[in-house]
Amino acid sequence: MPDAFRRRADKGLRGLVELVFPLLFPDDCRVCGEALREVSRVPVCAKCLRDPQPLVAEYFCVACKTPFVNAFPLDESGRCTLCRLGLTGFDAVYTYGSYEGSLRKLIHLFKFEKIHTLAVPLGKFLARALPREERFDAIVPMPLYWMRRWERGFNQSELLAREIGRGWNVPVKRAVRRVKATDAQAGLTNAKRRANVSGAFAARKNANLKGARVLLVDDVMTTGATAAACARALKHAGAAHVALLAVARTDRRAAVQSFELASLIDKGRQSRE
Ligand SMILES: [Zn+2]
Ligand SMILES: [Zn+2]
Repeated sequence: MPDAFRRRADKGLRGLVELVFPLLFPDDCRVCGEALREVSRVPVCAKCLRDPQPLVAEYFCVACKTPFVNAFPLDESGRCTLCRLGLTGFDAVYTYGSYEGSLRKLIHLFKFEKIHTLAVPLGKFLARALPREERFDAIVPMPLYWMRRWERGFNQSELLAREIGRGWNVPVKRAVRRVKATDAQAGLTNAKRRANVSGAFAARKNANLKGARVLLVDDVMTTGATAAACARALKHAGAAHVALLAVARTDRRAAVQSFELASLIDKGRQSRE
C-alpha cells in the first residue's frame, strides 16, 4: 500500500473512531469525572464501582447492627436502647456500606438522576451484605407514597428488590402500600421520626404472608424508623420474621464523636469558670 494512501486510510479510520467513540462512550464517570474507557451500561468507571467498602466498626448492636464508637450504648447482650425497648419492629438488619462518598453518589445517581442500570451494581452490594445461609419466602420492596412514585417515575427499592429476587430465586411481592404521605424525616428526633411514620403503611389485602420470612429491601437506612413502621405492617399481615436489607446506612459515629467532644470542651470550660 503506498504510504500516502495508508496515511489517508489511517486518518480516515481515526476520523471514524473519533466520530463513533463519543457515541459509545458518551460520558465521563459521573462519580470521579475521569473519561470512561470501557464499554459499560452505567456511566461510572470500574474503579468507582469497586470503591464502596463494607461499613466497619468496633462496636455494633447485635440486633440492628447500628455502629457505635464505644460499648456504652449496648447492654450485656449487646443490644442498643431502641432494640432493648422493642422499638425496631424488625428481626435483623443487613446493610452494605456507609451512606457517604462514592456509595452515596451511586445511590443519588440511581435514585435522583434515574440511572436505572445502576440497580445491577447496587444489587451486588446488597447480595454481599446478605448472609448466604438466610432463607426468605418473599422479598418486599419498601413502598413509596403513590405521589412520590409518580413524581420519580419508579420505585428505586423495587428495582433493587428485583435484583435480589433474581439472584436468590425468591418472589418479589409488593405486599405493603404507603397509605400516608410522610414529611421528610431529616432533622427530626428519633421519637418524632417514629410518630411521623406510624400508620404510614398497610399490607395489601392479597399479601398472604402468614408465617412467612420476609426480606424488606430499601436503598438507605437512616434511623430505621420508617423500616420499623413498615415491618410492623408486614407482621400485622402475618409475617413471622422481617429482616431489613439496605445498600447503605447513615453512620452517626462521627457526629456522636464531635458531639461528645463538644460537650467535654463545654464541661471543661464550665469547670474553669
Ligand atoms: Zn470514576
Ligand atoms: Zn439495635
